Amino acid sequence: RLYNEVQELKGNIRVYCRIRPFLQGQNKKQTSIEYTGENGELVVANPLKQGKDTYRLFKFNKVFGPASTQEEVFLDTRPLIRSILDGYNVCIFAYGQTGSGKTYTMSGPSINSEEDWGVNYRALNDLFHLTQSRQHSVVYEVGVQMVEIYNEQVRDLLSEDVPDASMHSVKSTEDVLELMNIGLMNRTVGATTLNEKSSRSHSVVSVHVRGVDVKTESVLRGSLHLVDLAGSERVGRSEVTGERLKEAQYINKSLSALGDVIFALAHKNPHVPYRNSKLTQVLQNSLGGQAKTLMFVQINPDEDSYAETVSTLKFAERVS
Ligand code: ADP
Ligand code: MG
Repeated sequence: RLYNEVQELKGNIRVYCRIRPFLQGQNKKQTSIEYTGENGELVVANPLKQGKDTYRLFKFNKVFGPASTQEEVFLDTRPLIRSILDGYNVCIFAYGQTGSGKTYTMSGPSINSEEDWGVNYRALNDLFHLTQSRQHSVVYEVGVQMVEIYNEQVRDLLSEDVPDASMHSVKSTEDVLELMNIGLMNRTVGATTLNEKSSRSHSVVSVHVRGVDVKTESVLRGSLHLVDLAGSERVGRSEVTGERLKEAQYINKSLSALGDVIFALAHKNPHVPYRNSKLTQVLQNSLGGQAKTLMFVQINPDEDSYAETVSTLKFAERVS
């Protein structure tokens, strides 16, 4: 309780950890990960050590275990989503190594069944339901943009050859599903497999809401950015050359720039270094000030991922 209050004071930054389950056919060599539900505490054990040095404790606002459902995760995200209609800017990130469940959390494994829906579809669905229930007092307009950032270049995923990210007006969840399908298709252009390219670029879905009060005609604006970050795994310099090395350096640069920005905001530093990457530039207006930030820190359960898991947890520790 006390810990959560401290978190609230730290400028609207929340960090949730989600542990992916073992996948079918995966060799179950489990890292010992212990978490204690409501307290948001997570303990990981180093497989190479023994004794008291083996364990490390990390704290989050919440930890979702491997059995958690998409619905449970969304229930703890919804209050943030709803604040958009009160005029807040909200940013939600998924951070973690490739294969840790970032896309699962943000988009879901498929969009065909509502049960599978990740945060982004549920969020938009919820927003539409709310705007409809309030339509006699406030008239809302909702616009969606979708871009990817690859090697520090921003590419519109919804229309080609436009200088800025194109804004698409949406009236229903179906409109959103249709747009996101287009975005997803465009994301795979030039990639051999979806995961190959998507793991090395950031994707940003931006939702802009404008509400006009029927009586007073006052206007309220809020926004939501849903960010599926590039894989955070560190690539050994000796392993890669050329194009892969360049990609790895760009990813590294932008993820640390994001960490620096959130760190500065959490500590209320007067200078927030937004200019250091395309990602933080794109999100500048929605990070900081009255904005609310939620980071999903995604964890693989297996022992082989231990080093990456600790590096992911350290990133989270720094920004929270
Ligand atoms: P990332 O986007 O971080 O690379 P993915 O979201 O693609 O990772 O997840 C990797 C694999 O694990 C996918 O097959 C995905 O369906 C599965 N997966 C991830 N998280 C979960 C989860 N919470 N429950 C079930 N399967 C999951
Ligand atoms: Mg992914």
